[in-house]
Amino acid sequence: TRDMLGRSEMLSVLGQLAAGVAHEIKNPLTSLKGFARLLEPSLQNKEQRFIGIMKEELDRIELIVNEMLVLSKPQVIMFEERDMSELLNYVIELLGTQAIMKSIEIKKEFEPVPLIACEDRQLKQVFVNLLKNAIEAMPGDGHGQIRVSLQQAGHSDSIRIEVSDQGQGIAPDRLARLTEPFYTTKEKGTGLGLMMTASIVERHGGTIHFASELGVGTTVTVTLPIQQGTK
Ligand code: ADP
Ligand code: MG
Repeated sequence: TRDMLGRSEMLSVLGQLAAGVAHEIKNPLTSLKGFARLLEPSLQNKEQRFIGIMKEELDRIELIVNEMLVLSKPQVIMFEERDMSELLNYVIELLGTQAIMKSIEIKKEFEPVPLIACEDRQLKQVFVNLLKNAIEAMPGDGHGQIRVSLQQAGHSDSIRIEVSDQGQGIAPDRLARLTEPFYTTKEKGTGLGLMMTASIVERHGGTIHFASELGVGTTVTVTLPIQQGTK
């Protein structure tokens, strides 16, 4: 299939498959969680511990399923013109408390750019994922800063958004693996965030690039075309 399908088609097929599976898992999962909750009060200490573990594991499945479900929307993509600085402000505010809890300052460097034809919800998801990763990569000792910049890319017909952190960085040999499904180095990670992110950016006709230095930080650069072609 790698030869017959381009990368974006492959991502979209994978995405639809993942979303279909996730959708099927959702209902039985909800009833499992419900019954675990109902059982809990009637159990002995030891059994309660087992239910506790079950609930934690069910939560983990739910987290993965929810991330996979975001992929299910693109069948009918509705592109609308959006103000990118508004969209970024929304996401920054959404993750603001997580940043504050780690004493991270989020610095905005926005230049005026034209409206962007995009699917609002999906593009928000892109920057939620990137900002979340940036926050998670930072040590949280109160000296960290994340920079989010927005500008028109030269005289071109695209815009550029950068998310830079001062986190642990990524080793060069790992950079290529970031968007692989289930690639994670976190104990509670799903490894689906960047796969989804790359796939959404690609569906918008944009590009994503990772630059990183161990112990210094990581910069993710997303470019998006101002006008949507026929994608
Ligand atoms: P998850 O966050 O669930 O682990 P992602 O797909 O979002 O999954 O990221 C995959 C992996 O890429 C992470 O586990 C981490 O190792 C690495 N990574 C992503 N963003 C950053 C970043 N800003 N700094 C350091 N490592 C990162
Ligand atoms: Mg992530």
